[in-house]
Amino acid sequence: MVDGSVAEFEQLAAGLTALEDRFVWDVAATLDAAERLEREAALLGDEELAVRARLVQANMWMRRGDIAAAARRMREIDQWADENDRSMIRARAQLLLTSVHHLLGDPATSLEHAIRAVEYLDAGATPHATVWHRVKLADALAEAGSIAAARTRYEQAEQLAAAHGAHRLHMAVLNNRAYSEYAAGEHEQAAAVVDRLRAKAAAHGFPLDPADLDTIGNIQIGNHRYADAERTLHACIALHAEGRHGTADQLAEYLLTLCRAQRGLGATERAQHTLDASRRICEERGLGEVLVRVHQEQAELHAARGEFAQAYAVHKAFFAAYDRLHSSRREAQARTRQAMFETAEAREEAERFREQARRDPLTGLRNRRFVDEQLPALIADPGAPVTIAILDLDHFKRVNDELSHDVGDQVLRVVAGLLDAEVAELAPAGFAARLGGEEFLLALPGLTAATAVACLDLLRVRIRSYPWAEVTGRLPVTVSIGAASTDDEVEPTQRGLLSTADSNLYAAKRGGRDRVVTGAAHGLRRHRSGA
Ligand code: GH3
Ligand code: MG
Ligand code: MG
Repeated sequence: MVDGSVAEFEQLAAGLTALEDRFVWDVAATLDAAERLEREAALLGDEELAVRARLVQANMWMRRGDIAAAARRMREIDQWADENDRSMIRARAQLLLTSVHHLLGDPATSLEHAIRAVEYLDAGATPHATVWHRVKLADALAEAGSIAAARTRYEQAEQLAAAHGAHRLHMAVLNNRAYSEYAAGEHEQAAAVVDRLRAKAAAHGFPLDPADLDTIGNIQIGNHRYADAERTLHACIALHAEGRHGTADQLAEYLLTLCRAQRGLGATERAQHTLDASRRICEERGLGEVLVRVHQEQAELHAARGEFAQAYAVHKAFFAAYDRLHSSRREAQARTRQAMFETAEAREEAERFREQARRDPLTGLRNRRFVDEQLPALIADPGAPVTIAILDLDHFKRVNDELSHDVGDQVLRVVAGLLDAEVAELAPAGFAARLGGEEFLLALPGLTAATAVACLDLLRVRIRSYPWAEVTGRLPVTVSIGAASTDDEVEPTQRGLLSTADSNLYAAKRGGRDRVVTGAAHGLRRHRSGA
């Protein structure tokens, strides 16, 4: 590629990421932008960018209410990404299919896609995707009735958002979490999450945005606090009118929530007025998905006024609109509850299996496969330094030769236990792994290089002073440790760090064993020798 097209490529890719990494869109404007980006990608001859642009378009079609066309394109793109080994595009297609099946009222299939949307995340995932795909999995779990499992995922998403210092994103996680608690009938939990949302907003100087206020209003309606809800929604709509938050499309949703609050208050005239305004926006802006809910609310409103004939007529209109919108709804709903449970069980089984495949059977520590999968993300995280340590038992062959292989195994298990405890205490986001034989790896994120090295030396002492006599008799057990930190590495890549840690380990062995060696390749620092 010539320089000009490299710059063009990067600009296009950045434009696409900006469209992808959002949770609210202006449908018409986003569709225009995505169509323009697709044309530019085609001119540049970049198929991957063009496909990404087409996926953004499918997302907007879905939001416009063209569910069937959107779903067809999402599946095509998913298949293309599978054949062409584009894991991140698969992850995004699966995320959108999660929404499609949510809209179709099929929580089991929605959950299936949400699980894959997380599975296909790869090292190229943006922080937004890393967090948001987990949020959508949590949403899907909650919708499928597993609020406890959902909480675990929201927790993960919150931790990741915090690790990336992404406070606004963290607030969006809390927003969805509050909504799921509310929808699951967990009103106290919902209120507690809202309190945390407010606290976070205050702590970081972000005012609550209209979407947050809409969620809070919904929760108030759920708690029959209609007057509070009306006030909240007035504040929401006033903020939205300032034009700095969200998009024009969102107003239709907010008006709909306001209408429900007003209906709850018995103010049916006001409610009707509000609903009419919402309907106008839906019709002007082609928001099929919201329009269905407007019909539904209209029926409720007629019923509240005792106008049962009208309520019935609107109900029929609602079902007609619902059918047009959800063309494959009947097929989707034909899935039985039983199938849902079977799927969930099969998934749990698969998850246990995947977990086992990433552990070393002798010690229960993580294995090399886990290291290869997880280390890149830890190293790539710009928010926290990472120290990698490779540990090798000293003269381990003697234990096997002079005692027995069984005693050797026992030594490996004890050392593994000490390593696991150390990581749990020092760096809970890190891990201990057995690379093979008598060689281990520690990944310690969040500590400065100096702290990590001091802790590794304490660990070395802890291992040598374990009461080994009960296990190995007169034979001592010591370890040599080579470490490398993103802090002092010139090029902090996985390969660079592992190779520095490895040569430091070699230096520790050569230097007499039972010691920690650290530092970048030039100018090794040797730490206290225990010998
Ligand atoms: P050094 O201090 O240079 O590391 O010496 P060493 O004896 O520890 O290193 P060497 O690589 O010569 O020997 C490692 C031994 O570890 C050889 C092998 O039999 C033993 N080993 C590897 N895997 C296992 C295992 O799973 N269980 C047991 N008991 N021994 C193992
Ligand atoms: Mg050894
Ligand atoms: Mg070895």
